[in-house]
Amino acid sequence: MGRKEGAVNREGRGVTDADYSFAVNLMQFLVVPTFVLDPDGKVLIWNKACERLTGMPAAEVVGTTEHWRGFYDTPRLCLADLIVQKREAEMAALYVTHDDPSGQSFGLHAQNWCVMPRMGTQLYLAIDAGPIYDAAGKLLAVVETLRDMSAQKKTQIELEERATHDGLTGIVNRRGFDERLQVEWSSASREKQSLALIMIDVDHFKRYNDTYGHLAGDDCLKRIAAVLSQAALRPNDLAARYGGEEFALILPSIDEQGAAVVASRIREGVAKLAIPHGGGEAGGIVTVSLGVATVTPEPSMKHQDLIAWADRALYQAKHAGRNRVAALSAS
Ligand code: GH3
Ligand code: MG
Ligand code: MG
Repeated sequence: MGRKEGAVNREGRGVTDADYSFAVNLMQFLVVPTFVLDPDGKVLIWNKACERLTGMPAAEVVGTTEHWRGFYDTPRLCLADLIVQKREAEMAALYVTHDDPSGQSFGLHAQNWCVMPRMGTQLYLAIDAGPIYDAAGKLLAVVETLRDMSAQKKTQIELEERATHDGLTGIVNRRGFDERLQVEWSSASREKQSLALIMIDVDHFKRYNDTYGHLAGDDCLKRIAAVLSQAALRPNDLAARYGGEEFALILPSIDEQGAAVVASRIREGVAKLAIPHGGGEAGGIVTVSLGVATVTPEPSMKHQDLIAWADRALYQAKHAGRNRVAALSAS
């Protein structure tokens, strides 16, 4: 690799070979994983930190266009390739998380989960790629730098998970439920589709705690949550812990009969657990009561109405003797 013809330093004197190899050396030993592409998209420099990050030796990649192999297991463009090939517009299709590429003369910025085939472990990388031009504005090279953000990303995912999931049962919590119900309500309103909500309440659970202790109560709630998760069969179904010993199931695009079938399945599923409950309603086992509401949203309705209807149906199930399903339809 030789120095570029016509390169000059800040004082305007010609860049000597010594200057050039010093600059290349700096880049080789930079602690930031970095690679450089020439205007043909071939790797010019693959520094030591990039070797450590990818597990791919420079000798294998310099002079080739195979740099993607360090990051992905199928051929695809890296951020630097987008600049070399002037395909910055494809940024959004290739990177879920990225900055607006409109300021592209200063480079591209994105974050991405990378397969890292040589390392056998996925990494979440923050990627910056920037072009280097000569005095005449001709592209000399594109520099791509990488930062391993996996630890930060995992912490962020964990925090988000904790904010929307219940610590005891692992299913979605009230906050996650509220967010999702609003989304499904909007979508059902837009598409004029029906939406069902099942509210589930454990029967005589205070007595259960009093008899078997709070820890046994916790275990019971976990097992009931597992039955609910199994009942949330379709991709957009959602089982949530609404609060205390109350659960909820959101079922988009389902009619009244369909929702009632799911509710009955849950009631039977909980009964099948056969958790002993001396103070229970029937047969000496833990049972649940369920209220089902199904509606095709109209402009005059709010998603809170659906909760109120399901609650009312649940109240009816309780008063009719517990361990049963009651349904209300507002459509
Ligand atoms: P009903 O059949 O009318 O629903 O009666 P119930 O006893 O189930 O209803 P109540 O609202 O009187 O009692 C609910 C109980 O649920 C009281 C509370 O201690 C218990 N509970 C709420 N959250 C938890 C929890 O996280 N763990 C345990 N073990 N118990 C909980
Ligand atoms: Mg309750
Ligand atoms: Mg209860």
